[in-house]
Amino acid sequence: MDTASENKNQDFLARYAPVTGTSVIQHLEQLAAPLKGARVVHVNSTREGGGVAEILQKLIPLKKALGIETSWEVINGSPDFYECTKSFHNALQGMGRKVSDDLLKAYEQTNADCAERLRGVLEEADFVFIHDPQPAALLSHFPNRRGKWIWRCHIDASHPFRSVWKYLRPWLASYDASIFSLPEFAQPLPHAQYIVAPSIDPLSEKNRHLPTAEIEAVYAKFGLDPARPLVLQVSRYDRFKDPLGVIQAYLLAAKLTPLQLVLAGGGASDDPEGQEVLQEVQRAAEGHPDIHVLMLPSDAHRTINALQRASDIVIQKSIREGFGLTVTEGMWKGKPVIGGDTGGIRLQVFNHYTGFLVRTPEGAALRMRYLLHRARLRREMGERARQFVMDNFLITRHLREYLTLLVGLQGGCEERVVVG
Ligand code: UDP
Repeated sequence: MDTASENKNQDFLARYAPVTGTSVIQHLEQLAAPLKGARVVHVNSTREGGGVAEILQKLIPLKKALGIETSWEVINGSPDFYECTKSFHNALQGMGRKVSDDLLKAYEQTNADCAERLRGVLEEADFVFIHDPQPAALLSHFPNRRGKWIWRCHIDASHPFRSVWKYLRPWLASYDASIFSLPEFAQPLPHAQYIVAPSIDPLSEKNRHLPTAEIEAVYAKFGLDPARPLVLQVSRYDRFKDPLGVIQAYLLAAKLTPLQLVLAGGGASDDPEGQEVLQEVQRAAEGHPDIHVLMLPSDAHRTINALQRASDIVIQKSIREGFGLTVTEGMWKGKPVIGGDTGGIRLQVFNHYTGFLVRTPEGAALRMRYLLHRARLRREMGERARQFVMDNFLITRHLREYLTLLVGLQGGCEERVVVG
């Protein structure tokens, strides 16, 4: 690498120092040194929409800046492929439904086609990260692989629907390692399993500091009243995110407290159910002018950032959640979060400390009213929430754990377990 590129990389990394401290950056550089020149490929099924794409967009430039040759490949297939992988996603999160043989055939065919398209890059790689079940069957097309292949599961796989797990397990068993976000998501697999929590990038458009005027501009843009409290849920229109439960909670709370609700979402190109769920949400919101159902473009990061900062409470009332980056994002903006008592939300929201965990719309409504009547508590919880993210869920911590894992795999120390 020439000196100009090295300086550029150092400048890129140094931008994080004011947030994380210089020693964190130095530590990353030390860890990355034995990996210089290694080729790492990440494969998933969408470049935008959802948490996986959000993380890869930020993680890959940082790995590159550390001298690791990192690339990102996306697999895509027919509508049947997406229907199949959405069923896998639902089934791994416990919503069981048998998947038809035709859909499974589409899954296998897409993986076979993509294996041919990506053969060169995947055969050359030293490390391949396969994200979630969509590209999981790729590995079977590389019997003579030279690199280490790692399956990175982002979803709550703690109670998978048995028949789907039975189908997927043989594809997964051949990997060199797998990574889950929480220990309880790990599954009996014949290789090393690592626990690494996801993260947010504090410098991204989604999370960076914004001028007050830009935050205030969202009120006019979406017809919101700055004088009344605002509760916000940001998420894909997905049943696991329980947007209908959020509306129910809002309607209960709004009976006694003046309140506005924003549901901000968008689609992910690998999610075929989004449109149907959006329509259900729009129907439920009909006749309630203070419920704002927004369909945002996939690059609306600053708008989401401004909405999160403009809100009084962030809600993420999921009934299953691998991690919930939207929770981390809300906490980073100093907001108390009312989160569904499930999966990765439990790792972030602590009752009465950084927010509240809830199980029902009634519980969520109760906590909305409780918080809305206590401005000081909201502020204090929000400050603790931001600090908690600073200590645990920034991209630099995520990167440190990935680098440790890669160094371990490179040195043949698969037994090592990284706990986030
Ligand atoms: N997101 C977005 N636009 C939307 C909905 C979500 O940019 O319309 C982002 C959101 O800010 C977060 C990510 O997508 O960064 C969602 O990640 P999360 O882990 O909360 O859920 P997932 O969609 O992966 O289940």
